[in-house]
Amino acid sequence: MSLDLLEKYSKIVYYCSHCRLCSIANYHLLKDWVPICPSGEYFKFESYFSSGRMELIRGLLEGELKRTKTETIMKIAFGCQVCGGCYTQCSDHTALGETQQQVETFEDLRTALVDMYGALPKHQELADDTTKDHNPYKDSNNNRFNWLEGKNIPAGSKTIYFAGCTASFREQEIAKATVNLLEAVGQDFSILGPDEWCCGSPLLRTGQRKVAMPLIEHNYNILKERGIERIITSCAGCYQTIKNDYPKFLGKKLDIKIVHSVQFFQNKIKSGELKLKGKDLKITYHDPCHIARHANIRKAPRKVIEAIPNIKFEEFQRNKKNAWCCGAGGGVKKAFGDFANWTANQRILEADKIKDLQAIVSTCPFCKNNLKQAVERMGRKYRVMDLTELLQECI
Ligand code: SF4
Ligand code: SF4
Repeated sequence: MSLDLLEKYSKIVYYCSHCRLCSIANYHLLKDWVPICPSGEYFKFESYFSSGRMELIRGLLEGELKRTKTETIMKIAFGCQVCGGCYTQCSDHTALGETQQQVETFEDLRTALVDMYGALPKHQELADDTTKDHNPYKDSNNNRFNWLEGKNIPAGSKTIYFAGCTASFREQEIAKATVNLLEAVGQDFSILGPDEWCCGSPLLRTGQRKVAMPLIEHNYNILKERGIERIITSCAGCYQTIKNDYPKFLGKKLDIKIVHSVQFFQNKIKSGELKLKGKDLKITYHDPCHIARHANIRKAPRKVIEAIPNIKFEEFQRNKKNAWCCGAGGGVKKAFGDFANWTANQRILEADKIKDLQAIVSTCPFCKNNLKQAVERMGRKYRVMDLTELLQECI
């Protein structure tokens, strides 16, 4: 049993002053007290806020908590979307935030617990399925590009479209829209076909680093074998994972450019290669944690929306760095379904405050999936769509 991975935090955890600034979105900006931590708000005890997890690490390292598996320790460690809302608040105000990124800390905590005690049963299922099928959706990976419906994408380009598992198996409209847009701007690109495996994000987020490594290594080797120089992806999770986690866990630079579709199409709009016709629709934009907070992509989606003639746009009260998570990430949808649903419901209640809203637009298949389910559950009439789908309707 080892907590070696956490030793580096033995001093850092003391930088947390338990000020709990990480429980609310930026008050000075929003002029309102609004929560930002789904975990703390839902489970209600301090243990479930960032400060509580710091205390959990301290207690484990100092032996105050017995190093034996308990349901409560696992629930505290894994009942969080690793959305990073806490980090954005903490980093603006405290010595802890200047020193350490909470998401990295919590993922290390999870990895240490999984190494000692094994994964939560639902996360173990995720690992087993992904190892067997190379995607977490219990489907053959040979079906990954079925949404192309026979369309031929020529091999041999140095640019690929990496669709990711959720757009390939659940939210196929996003993958179709992305490919249609790439074709519309005359972009030469290929796909990896069944050689595209899960990027590994769900496993990294759930502390299953060892199970994620073969997927990461496989994708890296295929990309290198095929001489890929640029990846375009419409998935916020794949973007963050390939761009930031692959170099970290592979221990080397990728030398491959990673571009999120929203950045790619923003450039095409700017250069005049993607021309948009008007759309009469009142929308808001949901910032996915993986790109808005973890990868600082906040301007590009707003520039794209601004470029659509006639569109009416209003921000969520909590937006950009202060956005409320969709609820699905960090393995929460899989292991704590009610909590994931509650978190998404809160986002829809926030959407209700936007007058005459017709659509919630995002740039992540996983966000779309969870918010769409909440809209259906709550009987709302909003469309939930990806920005690529909106753009497709404007060409
Ligand atoms: S804002 Fe930072 S220092 Fe303050 S309680 Fe939260 S994690 Fe601790
Ligand atoms: S990562 Fe998100 S859910 Fe987890 S403690 Fe931070 S704000 Fe709360």
